[in-house]
Amino acid sequence: MTLFIQSMQYSLSFPSGEVNYIFSNATEALTAITAKDSCILITDANVAALYPPFFEGYKTLIVSAGEANKTWESIKIVAEKLLEYEAHRNTLLIGVGGGVITDLTGFIASTYMRGVAFGYIPTTLLGMADAAIGGKNGINLGLHKNILGTIQQPKFLLYDVAFLSTLPDEEWSNGFAEVIKYACLFDEALYQELSQHNIHFYKHNDQDLERLIAKCADWKNKTVLADEKEQNGRKLLNFGHTAGHAIETLYNLPHGQAVALGMIIACTVSEKACGLNSAVKENLKALLLQYNLPVQLLINPGRVMEILIMDKKRNQDSIDFIVLNKVGEAEIKSLSFDIIQQALVSFAHASSN
Ligand code: ADP
Ligand code: ZN
Repeated sequence: MTLFIQSMQYSLSFPSGEVNYIFSNATEALTAITAKDSCILITDANVAALYPPFFEGYKTLIVSAGEANKTWESIKIVAEKLLEYEAHRNTLLIGVGGGVITDLTGFIASTYMRGVAFGYIPTTLLGMADAAIGGKNGINLGLHKNILGTIQQPKFLLYDVAFLSTLPDEEWSNGFAEVIKYACLFDEALYQELSQHNIHFYKHNDQDLERLIAKCADWKNKTVLADEKEQNGRKLLNFGHTAGHAIETLYNLPHGQAVALGMIIACTVSEKACGLNSAVKENLKALLLQYNLPVQLLINPGRVMEILIMDKKRNQDSIDFIVLNKVGEAEIKSLSFDIIQQALVSFAHASSN
């Protein structure tokens, strides 16, 4: 594996614990962090099959790949295996994989024997730029996404972009949905940079890719450091996710694709709720298409609304919704269900033309 071009390390102090960020060669850095007999690696079948040398000499738990496995049943299987492997209070659990694996690892580590230390080695763009950061780890229960979970920080996050060399195209797009989210929320310059490039460019320019990932990690960390428990500012990170999660559940879409559609819907809501210029949505559509993400889907607005209403972030008859004022500036607004319903109807209508 190649070394991160600018090998670097820093640590951040969250209320629930200190996190060490390491950008380096994964094999070498892992050897430096921990002894092989004091940790257990948790990964999925795809990652295990792609990187056998990485796992050599480590006790490794392999779970089935995919969001459908972010369930209670997987937790039970992993917990039973941990007992079998005689994992104890001082065993370090390390999740090596995409968002599903880091969520499962964080959840199990936070609860196994009332909590053991854990670390993450994200291997997808989505994991590196977003999912592995911030200490949220949840599992799904039926249609309810991330309804069971904890907020607990990993001891370390180890980044090695060499893992991305095997990432399927669709997973690159999924990751870019979150990258574009960060640009929309916080960073107009990043938005402009993304407009000038595409996936092919980042795949072949490691240094730019590393910078991009580090920038998203910075934005997420900055937000989470200010509000780890999501009382206020952290809610901003849900941009595109309120309608997005409902669409993801209902139409069984990959997370990134659903977030792309959710961001378009959030733009329509923003036009109605705070006068966002409609040119922003048209520009965002072009950017999403540039990263092979969908911008329309024939949704049933009523069904989407039903799922959205049972969302855990709801209040009585309103919902905390993230609206854009312009690219790089967002805010949390308590909105009536009506305004969201209207946006869903207009999205469905636009998708049928
Ligand atoms: P996320 O998109 O949240 O990171 P997953 O954990 O489901 O979600 O990962 C997406 C898919 O990518 C899974 O099928 C997983 O096995 C696969 N995957 C993870 N890392 C790699 C990699 N480095 N190369 C190829 N496939 C990978
Ligand atoms: Zn997301």
